[in-house]
Amino acid sequence: MENLFRLVDHEDMFSRRCIWVNGPIIVGAGPSGLATAACLREQGVPFMVLERSDCIASLWQKRTYDRLKLHLPKQFCQLPKLPFPQDFPEYPTKKQFIEYLESYASHFEINPQFNECVQSARYDETSGLWRVKTIATSGSNRTELEYICKWLVVATGENAECVIPDIEGLSEFKGDIIHACEYKSGESFSGKKVLVVGCGNSGMELSLDLCNHNASPSMVVRSSVHVLPKEIFGKSTFELAVLMMKWLPIWLVDKLLLIFAWLVLGNIEKLGLKRPLDGPLKLKNTQGKTPVLDIGTLEKIRSGDIKVVPGIERFINGYVELVNGEKHDVDAVVLATGYRSNVPSWLQEGEFFSKNGFPKSPFPGGWKGNAGLYAVGFTRRGLSGASYDAMKIAQDIGQVWKQDTKQKKQRTTACHRRCISQF
Ligand SMILES: Cc1cc2nc3c(=O)[nH]c(=O)nc-3n(C[C@H](O)[C@H](O)[C@H](O)COP(=O)(O)OP(=O)(O)OC[C@H]3O[C@@H](n4cnc5c(N)ncnc54)[C@H](O)[C@@H]3O)c2cc1C
Repeated sequence: MENLFRLVDHEDMFSRRCIWVNGPIIVGAGPSGLATAACLREQGVPFMVLERSDCIASLWQKRTYDRLKLHLPKQFCQLPKLPFPQDFPEYPTKKQFIEYLESYASHFEINPQFNECVQSARYDETSGLWRVKTIATSGSNRTELEYICKWLVVATGENAECVIPDIEGLSEFKGDIIHACEYKSGESFSGKKVLVVGCGNSGMELSLDLCNHNASPSMVVRSSVHVLPKEIFGKSTFELAVLMMKWLPIWLVDKLLLIFAWLVLGNIEKLGLKRPLDGPLKLKNTQGKTPVLDIGTLEKIRSGDIKVVPGIERFINGYVELVNGEKHDVDAVVLATGYRSNVPSWLQEGEFFSKNGFPKSPFPGGWKGNAGLYAVGFTRRGLSGASYDAMKIAQDIGQVWKQDTKQKKQRTTACHRRCISQF
């Protein structure tokens, strides 16, 4: 307790309210934060969840497009301790996934502190505790708060901030420019020439959606990309890969996947989509690049409804100039240029997390740092990776929690006995 008082310096003591949290603080109420909270609940460990947005799973609720469905079959996306309802389809819709997360949060009585953004977190060596500073917003009121806790769980996600590329002339472009996280549907782009920058899962799906809403999309493919069919002979490609990896080395699974992809999709290089030299799984493991699962975009490229164009040189006078010298007239630009972690902007720590905001140790070792620091959902393995982290973290904290509680009980009993004998 003495330490607790010592760590609150004078300036802070008067400007911020300081709150002791019994148990871990979880930063982020996305699927990863919720999964960790649920597993801690099972271990009987109390916790506090801090969330900058006004709802759980804000990425899914506010920053994804309408037609989105889970890219992977449901058995790879459910969170620990509570499966998806039986009547959910193989690939639940975004709405169903959000419903599931809402019921998950209420089942495990997870009530995050909403509208509270973590500004900084640092470990105080003197007290051996974490100091977490936040700004809580309510209407036009902003309150600065400080929490003190023994454990800190980082669950802010791989997609916390949008990546906006630095392209010459983009800021002077007169048409609409949006990031994929603001895109809801192609309806408002009907009849327009839209440049989609990026050819990952989002870029491919948004191009298809634009096409289905009578827009004319051109998709910028700057580098190479692996496109795989979503299903091979009626089985999910992801599931098949997981199955094959149990028996075969990665290089062989990669080879087989590419043969299957060629049989189902044909030669995609003819469509302007160059394949990387490394296989899809090797690339995922070494660089975290997720292969694209085709959901009908290739057919639209083949029919000419979606154009594939090379990298952008610059924007000039309402035109986009490409690296091959071609100029295209475009009405709007959708930046499907990805996301990044925001951990370096608030976590004052340099041992466990690297500068890119991901733990330095790769999966499965990246969930535990030093001094009560944990990370969940930074495995580049989607929701199944997050579930793995969440269970490990809860077990780890749960063990210490139980020991601490046992010792406290023993101390109290001993003290009680002493008191009695004194009288
Ligand atoms: C379009 C799209 C489709 C996807 N489809 C799939 C799929 O089918 N299957 C799959 O497994 N994965 C999929 N993913 C991957 C996706 O990242 C995960 O599904 C999941 O959302 C990750 O959960 P998370 O909790 O780690 O991160 P998030 O869902 O991003 O949640 C992090 C939370 O932290 C909050 N936060 C951030 N910074 C702060 C701060 N400083 N203070 C307080 N709160 C903060 C955010 O507001 C957010 O609510 C998809 C991703 C995208 C973008």
